[in-house]
Amino acid sequence: MANSLMKSTTMHPLIGHDQLQTSLGRACHLGNLPSGVLLHGGPGVGKQHLALWIAQVLLCPHKTPSGPCMVCKSCRLSLKVGHPDLHWFFPVSRPKNTRPSNLGAALETARQDSLIRKRKNFLRPTSAYTEIQGIYLATIKHLRNQVYKRPSMGSSQVFILGDAQAMISRDSTSEAANALLKILEEPPSGTFFLITCDILRRLPATIISRTIPIHLAGIPTSEVKNFLMENLEIEEKKADKSARLSRGSIGRSLGFLTEDENEGTLEFARQKSFHLLRACLQTNRTLIYQESIKLAGTSSRTLGPVIDSLGDALRDLALFILGDQDKIVNTDTIRFLEGVCSKRNIHPRSITESFGYLDQAKEQMDSNVNAQLIITNLLINVQEKLSGRSK
Ligand SMILES: [Zn+2]
Repeated sequence: MANSLMKSTTMHPLIGHDQLQTSLGRACHLGNLPSGVLLHGGPGVGKQHLALWIAQVLLCPHKTPSGPCMVCKSCRLSLKVGHPDLHWFFPVSRPKNTRPSNLGAALETARQDSLIRKRKNFLRPTSAYTEIQGIYLATIKHLRNQVYKRPSMGSSQVFILGDAQAMISRDSTSEAANALLKILEEPPSGTFFLITCDILRRLPATIISRTIPIHLAGIPTSEVKNFLMENLEIEEKKADKSARLSRGSIGRSLGFLTEDENEGTLEFARQKSFHLLRACLQTNRTLIYQESIKLAGTSSRTLGPVIDSLGDALRDLALFILGDQDKIVNTDTIRFLEGVCSKRNIHPRSITESFGYLDQAKEQMDSNVNAQLIITNLLINVQEKLSGRSK
């Protein structure tokens, strides 16, 4: 009951994950929730939405085993992400032209500005940013100062650290992660940390060992589709297409929709991936070199989704060959797949074997290898695999 009410009134709707909500709600009510919880799962699957809900439960003085009361002052503030004891941190772009001594204050201003935008439009597609964003040491120091202050309203403070893998990047070394670890080692009583990250292994083992990791799986495609139709009034055909491509993630499904007449960022990646697949299916490398040049200088935020989409495109090709068309996610490419299969005899095994090259490309991306080089190598390897030339 509380759940359905919550879903209809909150600015941060949580779709799916009902069982997880039930068990976490109960743990909060019994006072059993560990002080460090690590929610991990694919981008846009609802990790920070769930963290905000847990925070609301923890801060509500009238919580029941099924969740927060929804009507008290604390709940009303939590729902607007305006509760003074709810602190939400996430990656921001590093402010330009800032002296190191002013960096902490500038990052805090950037976070507050971002919070205002999030309150206005909470539903943002994943991969909507093209700039590199990070969680910097100065931000973790700010968080630490807050941790050792007394709560304003009740006896608890809740800290959400979204996309914590952004502590570990080219620009922000693991200094931020080390600083966080020190706080997690000795948290003041009544302090809770709800940390989210996409892939668990991207966080240091020392941080993981201080938390209870909980995995959020994708939700059923039908739930994503219903959400898009009911809450965003997307027409059925478009909702169906985005939902199929979403991997059970609402945040991801939004990336395939048109926003302010602009093509979604994931839609761009999807179309690009079919150009790449076409290049791999040629008998020579001309198209491979042409497509790689077009992606020269691309940031990993743009390249990652293109590589992911190429994986989807290849999987669809395998499904088509196996006659399992119902599972194809790029439904608008069936004619193209038909054309490919009428001309060539590709063994599904050579497709599954080429997935290893996609993983390799993503690893190279994390180590900042040049984008053009990554794509050239990837496409050549996949081309060889599909042609049966490589072992
Ligand atoms: Zn309440």
